[in-house]
Amino acid sequence: MIFSQVTLAPADPILGLTDAFKADTRTHKVNLGVGIYKDEAGQTPVLSSVKKAEAILLETEKSKNYLGIEGVQAYNQVVQGLLFGVDSNIITDKRAVTVQAPGGTGALRVASEFLVRNTKSTTIWVSNPTWANHNNIFETAGLSVKEYRYYKAETHDMDFEAMLADLEQAQAGDVILLHGCCHNPTGIDLSLAQWQQVAQVCLTKELLPLFDFAYQGFGAGIDEDAQGLRAVAAVVPELLIANSFSKNFGLYNERIGAVTVVAEDAESATNSFSQIKKNIRANYSNPPAHGGLIVSTILSDDALRQEWEAELTEMRQRIAEMRTLFVDSLKAEGVEQDFSFISRQNGMFSFSGLNKQQVARLKDEFAIYIVGSGRISVAGLTKNNMPAVCKAIAQV
Ligand code: PLP
Repeated sequence: MIFSQVTLAPADPILGLTDAFKADTRTHKVNLGVGIYKDEAGQTPVLSSVKKAEAILLETEKSKNYLGIEGVQAYNQVVQGLLFGVDSNIITDKRAVTVQAPGGTGALRVASEFLVRNTKSTTIWVSNPTWANHNNIFETAGLSVKEYRYYKAETHDMDFEAMLADLEQAQAGDVILLHGCCHNPTGIDLSLAQWQQVAQVCLTKELLPLFDFAYQGFGAGIDEDAQGLRAVAAVVPELLIANSFSKNFGLYNERIGAVTVVAEDAESATNSFSQIKKNIRANYSNPPAHGGLIVSTILSDDALRQEWEAELTEMRQRIAEMRTLFVDSLKAEGVEQDFSFISRQNGMFSFSGLNKQQVARLKDEFAIYIVGSGRISVAGLTKNNMPAVCKAIAQV
């Protein structure tokens, strides 16, 4: 038999935790594992701007004909505006090309396959730690993965010296994965000055930055969160961006993201575009339309865009509020360890410093689900579940 030789794959470290959470019958259970935004009522509702865009689409959509391989054209234009700013020279000089992709994950995979099939850049450096799926995606696509240091556990802060020292070891043509903002899992981002230093290293050593930009607007704001990307793009001639709208538009299950190539000139951009399209054609032919149409409808309409920005601001502010409340509540529960670093981190996640045993006890004894690394999804905390979570952490 052929299939009887197939062995059981291990559960995904993050999505497997969600399965375990769903199967848990304890009513007080709390899921701080997967990175999904929850509102104060613990729900992940459809944004009102998205509902309105869908109502428009219901009225105006005339056909379900295939999209082109690159996806919704208006979408690809608005994506570039969000990434670089609408007045960017990169756009006017036609140095950027964008294709719609199925989520940030699909974008990373499309970008990786482009590198493997069409360039000599087949080694990628990722931060240690990084999002659990990065190595999986890159290795499956055929890239070889190396790590650069990023985080210092003792100080709960970035280890920038070590990062630079490791990047110095990279060879010309190597790819450097950079988290555009809201680093997953640490929540610790580079300052503008540090971004500028990284840009210089990439320029002088001829390294190719690949930005994973999954949380634009969750850190400090839409343009603020793009400062690293824009600082690097101002210095290096070539880069790749894989961005996602799962979180900032709450479009998780629509699978909507994009791959953008910035090339030295319009001709190289066009050539890269043609090869990426060739790869996509052999993969899933062309992307699903709905997510791309929603995002382009919202971003092309002043009122809807304003409404979306307000909704994004509300999500960002709620997470920031939960960070402060978390630190204060832990202190109030008598936890002596200093957790104030949590309120200085950005985005959905916080590297709590909880160890594997503590994470296991939180799950077994208190029905609180956290990824084994101690990464907490702060976006899953609410005023309601906060006291129970902090009491449990105090006990472990
Ligand atoms: N990159 C990072 C850093 C992420 O945290 C995520 C989602 O968790 C993704 C990419 C993938 O995004 P998507 O859900 O759109 O595939």
